[in-house]
Amino acid sequence: MSDVIFLGTGGGRMVVLNQMRHSGGFWLNLNGVKILQDPGPGSLVMAHKHVLKPSSLDAIILSHRHIDHSNDINVMIETMTGGGFHPRGRVIVPGDCLNEDPVVLQYVRPFTEIVEIKEGLKISIRDINISFPIRTMHPVETYGAIYEFNSKRLGYIPDTEYFPGLAQAYKGVDFLIINVVRMTTDKRIRHLNIKEAANLIGSINPKMAILTHFGLQALKASPDHQAKLISERTGVRVIAANDGLSVSFEDK
Ligand SMILES: [Zn+2]
Repeated sequence: MSDVIFLGTGGGRMVVLNQMRHSGGFWLNLNGVKILQDPGPGSLVMAHKHVLKPSSLDAIILSHRHIDHSNDINVMIETMTGGGFHPRGRVIVPGDCLNEDPVVLQYVRPFTEIVEIKEGLKISIRDINISFPIRTMHPVETYGAIYEFNSKRLGYIPDTEYFPGLAQAYKGVDFLIINVVRMTTDKRIRHLNIKEAANLIGSINPKMAILTHFGLQALKASPDHQAKLISERTGVRVIAANDGLSVSFEDK
């Protein structure tokens, strides 16, 4: 069984700070390997609300250090490791989450194995392979991932501005989760706008794409409606995630 459950689908300051959508990231179960990606504020609460078992996590991954992606990292490390009494799992993060002004606190580090992401890193957890194909363009060090399971590939495009090379890095994935914070570009905060996301989905051409991490602009424009428009334009099945949405990767 392989699926994803969205513990939160909010992104950007207004939506996350006001909790217009929850912000706990997403929880993958890939052939029994459990991975929590981007535990933003409320991840611990939402994991328990959905009766997931954080003590069964195999890995926690941060795409980057911004607080809407990393706020609950320390408490999730504690809960993954039974308050540190049962060291286990892996925490996979960019270097700037560990060094100056670290978001991963020093005292929790001995509880788990810390892995620093570099562009091109490949790691395996049992029969799941995870690669970090390209550093994206965002104000802090940021990496998406490609998770490989049962000879299927799921790509995650995190916060980034558009740049050539992004589509190529994710070519051939069967499923794609993509953060769509904004409708229009604001050069200062370096996010994809909806048109760029649509172009990426069109050129990557997965079997299914899931939009998430909506900022205020994207929420106001109705993510469901935008997903429908992108579907019509690209021919790809596109859905907009809701808090608590679960999507199976079987038989697709
Ligand atoms: Zn960010």
